[in-house]
Amino acid sequence: MIGNFINVGERTNVTGSARFRKLILNGDYEAAVEVARQQVENGAQIIDVNMDDGMLDSQGAMVRFLNLIASEPDISRVPVMVDSSKWSIIEAGLKCLQGKGVVNSISMKEGEAAFIEQARLVRRYGAAVVVMAFDEEGQADTVDRKVDICTRAYDILVNQVGFPPEDIIFDPNIFAIATGIDEHNDYANAFITATRKIRETLPGVHVSGGLSNVSFSFRGNDAVREAMHSVFLYHAIPAGMDMGIVNAGQLAVYEDIPLDLREAVEDVVLNRRDDATERLVDLAETYRGAGKKTEVDLRWREAPVTERLTYALVHGIGQFIVEDVEEARQASTRTLDVIEGPLMDGMNVVGDLFGSGKMFLPQVVKSARVMKQGVGYLLPFIEKESEGEERQAKGKILMATVKGDVHDIGKNIVGVVLQCNNYDVVDLGVMVPAQKILDEARKEKADIIGLSGLITPSLDEMCYVASEMQRAGMNLPLMIGGATTSKVHTAVKIDQNYDHPVIYVPDASRAVGVASRLLGSREEIAGEVSAEYSKVREAYASQGERKERVAIEAARANAFAPDWKSYAPPRPAFTGTRIFANYDKSRLVDVMDWRPFFSAWDMKGRYPEILEDPVKGPAARELFSDAQEMLKKLVADDRVAPAAVVGFWPAASCDEDIVIYSDDSRQSEQRRFHMLRQQMARREGGRANFCLADFIAPADAGQPDWLGGFTVTAGPGIDEIASEYEAAGDDYSSIMVKALGDRFAEALAEDMHRRVRTEFWGYAADEQLSNDQLIEESYRGIRPAPGYPACPDHTEKRTLFELLDTEAAIGAGLTESFAMTPAASVSGLYFSHPDSRYFGVGGIERDQVEDYARRKGMDVSEVERWLAPSLNYDPLKVRAAA
Ligand code: SAH
Repeated sequence: MIGNFINVGERTNVTGSARFRKLILNGDYEAAVEVARQQVENGAQIIDVNMDDGMLDSQGAMVRFLNLIASEPDISRVPVMVDSSKWSIIEAGLKCLQGKGVVNSISMKEGEAAFIEQARLVRRYGAAVVVMAFDEEGQADTVDRKVDICTRAYDILVNQVGFPPEDIIFDPNIFAIATGIDEHNDYANAFITATRKIRETLPGVHVSGGLSNVSFSFRGNDAVREAMHSVFLYHAIPAGMDMGIVNAGQLAVYEDIPLDLREAVEDVVLNRRDDATERLVDLAETYRGAGKKTEVDLRWREAPVTERLTYALVHGIGQFIVEDVEEARQASTRTLDVIEGPLMDGMNVVGDLFGSGKMFLPQVVKSARVMKQGVGYLLPFIEKESEGEERQAKGKILMATVKGDVHDIGKNIVGVVLQCNNYDVVDLGVMVPAQKILDEARKEKADIIGLSGLITPSLDEMCYVASEMQRAGMNLPLMIGGATTSKVHTAVKIDQNYDHPVIYVPDASRAVGVASRLLGSREEIAGEVSAEYSKVREAYASQGERKERVAIEAARANAFAPDWKSYAPPRPAFTGTRIFANYDKSRLVDVMDWRPFFSAWDMKGRYPEILEDPVKGPAARELFSDAQEMLKKLVADDRVAPAAVVGFWPAASCDEDIVIYSDDSRQSEQRRFHMLRQQMARREGGRANFCLADFIAPADAGQPDWLGGFTVTAGPGIDEIASEYEAAGDDYSSIMVKALGDRFAEALAEDMHRRVRTEFWGYAADEQLSNDQLIEESYRGIRPAPGYPACPDHTEKRTLFELLDTEAAIGAGLTESFAMTPAASVSGLYFSHPDSRYFGVGGIERDQVEDYARRKGMDVSEVERWLAPSLNYDPLKVRAAA
């Protein structure tokens, strides 16, 4: 990255990454190894591994993980930093390393004797070592203390222990600056000055530090943080900092930082003036949310018109499209030739670039917007010129999100991509009943039907649409897509209902290939898919039998059982509900989690690293900056009015149920949540068979307990604004608005949860978490969402919505499949227990289903329908056998 600077990756640290911690706690070492691989792929030249956690056999975890990555050549090519506060763990880790290891860290905080002993051990393994500038009095904060401690440590290490200086890495502590506390003003400057002295007077050693700390007081303002990081390194690297934990996605290019900002940041970092903090804080406001600016280069305007059209399409620039198509129109005999000639040629270039991975979905959607603008301008001319002559599309595709479901971002993207490739697309929108899909397909003379769905009940609805098509004697091929769908489900369930091709399309980029084969060589693709799906079905059938399950009584006997005698659940500040209307939008913008935003656009990779990705970086940055621009508009638009309703109720568990009482006297039952319990066979003494009800005290425990719940929504304005863009032919902005609506809702869910922990339930009043830690949910308590793995039954949302009186409170409702409306809404339950955690119920057996049906007062067959994806048996087979 920067000369000889060595970047240390730290996502494989359970204390720093809640995600990694979860993976390790859940024993998902495969995914944990992937985290390490991504770190290396993203440019880490050393990876820091830390397993210090009270819930873990840390030593076992360290050994297991290091052994696993040792057999991965693309990970083990970089050294490992074994990070622990326990000696036994560091030693166990060092034993696993093949090449040279690095120990993180030792210090003199417990005096010289302990320091020497640890250093000797490190030396015995030939490892390098990070030495914190920390002594008996604490962490060094001034230049003198930093230099003194490092000098003292150096003497001991080199002269007494015989450590090679090249194996010593000093960490002179990077602390936050511009915090408003005067004593902090010189922290960065002190680090840089101390680094220079250390490198001058202690020959051979390295200097390292964790960069993101320095800008901590500007969290939420990326432009300023990026500038601070970049300015810090700009001065610290020449001073001798040659190693560090640096997030490449949070780094501005020094030369690109606007001069006023650069100067203000420099004043703060180098502590050059007394009012530096104030001045930066003032200036920071003007840079809040500012993306990286790009210079406008208009040289392409000098090319001939056909090339300009291609350029405009590939780059998604609509600014000149009308004048360019007009010029092309005047030069051609028929207006239609402009579309079929230069515009289609340009779109073909877009298609090729996309197909070969050189363009990404958001860019294609932008190209489509330019294409639509151009075509829109030409249409009136075509209508005048050509009587009855029509543009020849490759085929017509009818698309719909099925009844009961409301999400359509993915479907809309597929629609745009198909249109770009010269297909006619008829989009019926969301919540479309089967009959309407069939009728419109006939009326429109569609060639293919595409169905989409986000939530699990939609799977069932898709089977129904397929069987209705069969009944009606149709033969159009079906394409299946959306978050809830899968190849297995398509093969096992939907395909069985229909004699004609049913094809699962995993993402938008595949849609064109599938459509063109369905229309070109239908028999061939149908044959291939049918052969593949029979294999999928066989594999599915044989695996179903293998999953070992225990009876519900046995699972219940192995419930997760906290000790209720020694623990009193916290009492919330209020019971009943509270409404938060018109939530502060700029607050939400600050706490947004951008990772899911990129996947909504089919851009795979993690934020913020994706912004610096050598291949996807430019597209990701452009998408991100467009998003910031649209966010500004949505923040200014009064129709976007995020709202929340939160409630707490006296509660007690009763096996898998959670009883909600009408009041604190706990005499009368008001409602009941019905939960499900894991039924997987566990080793003797292994993990519990979890159920969410386990986290609530039973009535006879003698400890009153409470359950919380919430619904948040970005409000109906999102859909309204999205429709306006759509009507104007701007799908890019329409999809953007919806994707940002989801961001508002998710951010509100996160912010509400924070306030629940710190204010309304108040059990974590002192919580101090960074935004990253919030996003990774490294806090006490959970907010499981009905329909997700710990509580897969969507119908439980009805109970939650009634308790919260959600419709009246914030205008959010449920469809017949229990999808939430507006689409940009989030709901869930709050659990406060310190051991509460997310898990997956997994496949359940018929005995639990029967018990559950009894508890819910539902027919077994109805429960089986709602829980279809969670059954560990085939209800049809079970019924046939009975
Ligand atoms: N920050 C993300 C959303 C969080 S996803 C965004 O901005 O889009 C994590 C959420 O999914 C959790 O808060 C919880 O509500 C839900 N969740 C995750 N795993 C779950 C599980 N096993 N059971 C129930 N809910 C789960």
